[in-house]
Amino acid sequence: MRIRYKLALLFTLIVAGLLTLFSYVIYEDSSRHRDEIFLGRLENKARTTARYLIDVKEITNELLKIIDQNSLTSLDSELVLVFDPRNKLVYSSVDDRPFKYSRNLIAEVRKEKIVEYTEGVYDQIGLAFPSKIDSSKGEYVVLASAYDRFGKYKLRNLRHTLIICWVVGVGLTVLASGWLSAYFLRPVITINEKIQLITAQNLKERLSEGNGKDEIAQLASNFNQMLNRLDMSFEQQKSFVSHASHELRTPLTAMKTDIQSGLEETTLSAEEYRDILRDLFQDTQRLIGLTNGLLQLARPLDKVLKRNTLSIVDLLLDIQSHMGSAQKPNTIRFDPAIFEMKLPDVQVTGDESLLKTLLTNLMDNACKYSDGLPVYISIERKQSDCYVHVTDQGIGIAPKDQERIFGAFFRGNNAIRYTGYGIGLAVSQRIAEWHDGSISVQSELHKGSTFTLRLPLA
Ligand code: ADP
Repeated sequence: MRIRYKLALLFTLIVAGLLTLFSYVIYEDSSRHRDEIFLGRLENKARTTARYLIDVKEITNELLKIIDQNSLTSLDSELVLVFDPRNKLVYSSVDDRPFKYSRNLIAEVRKEKIVEYTEGVYDQIGLAFPSKIDSSKGEYVVLASAYDRFGKYKLRNLRHTLIICWVVGVGLTVLASGWLSAYFLRPVITINEKIQLITAQNLKERLSEGNGKDEIAQLASNFNQMLNRLDMSFEQQKSFVSHASHELRTPLTAMKTDIQSGLEETTLSAEEYRDILRDLFQDTQRLIGLTNGLLQLARPLDKVLKRNTLSIVDLLLDIQSHMGSAQKPNTIRFDPAIFEMKLPDVQVTGDESLLKTLLTNLMDNACKYSDGLPVYISIERKQSDCYVHVTDQGIGIAPKDQERIFGAFFRGNNAIRYTGYGIGLAVSQRIAEWHDGSISVQSELHKGSTFTLRLPLA
């Protein structure tokens, strides 16, 4: 069942329940009130009749009947019976109408002193009445019955009014709750319809955020933000795939050309064949380097992440000792202060192999783009973070490129003559973020660059 109908139904049931409860309480209270008033009047009547009959010698049965029948206060269909202490009927206010009662009733009245009950439409009362003049005579029993025409009419009227009010109230509630739930859920329905139109090809669509204040507007706004993020990551993925295929195609095309010329040329010397194989080997190396970089960018880091406490100094020294011949012309120079630093100032928590990849990228780049000039490494502690600065005196980075070098496949114009794929810094940035750190750069063209890695201390 739709929420809209559920809400309307629930609301209607609650209102119907409340109306029923209130109607019941009002009706029961009115009915009790009527009983009290009418039985009080009936009791007065019974006592007056009994007093006249038993204690006033001058009033005979006939006279009492005349008084009873002509009294202005007489009740509708009023009937009074009086029994003497031996249960003999000594007075009946009307002769032509029977009064239904049982012997047990008289015994019960003698025991209880006063009994109230109904017989059909009649309210009846029985009470024990001792003679004031001669109490030795024992107790008389008076039974009185009457029809409360006016009270019952009022009660019936009240019942009809309550039933009509209940039906009208519930009817109006059904309409009102249906309208209200439709009114409040309309934005949700609109959002639903709009969401169905949003596909991977149509990620630019956005939901209307309505008044921007209520929960539905918040939902729409959060959904829009999620679409923004999805759109961005779709765009990134698209450009990543197109860059990656472009980068892979270049060495593959070169390899194809080499193989073709090797196959087609029949007069090549052994040395020329070796040249072709050397080219193929270089292109294969390039392909391997590229696919390794792509793999590092694509694989989910949380699967490989191991958290160990590591010394940044040890990591840097280890990397330096394993540096290949390509970096040898550079001298990696460590700030002597590094070796004086206390262990807690250089200890971070992280994955050793990932952090090595990151630092190797920074140190490789510094060596590569500074043509054999020395590279300086220093470490600094600020509050709860550790900063590693890698400074070179190389080609530098143009200001407009400094933000972009962390994106995959971006290479500065001045870097084209150096080998590379534009992946290393993207991978490094990703690794730094996974360690709750970051990489920043300060650089001047033709003067050099300083890459700074920030990592939280362990
Ligand atoms: P690659 O070095 O393979 O091109 P990177 O992602 O490591 O890929 O670097 C991206 C780009 O950033 C480089 O192409 C270069 O333009 C610039 N860059 C990185 N490090 C340096 C540096 N130390 N000096 C000058 N430019 C740099």
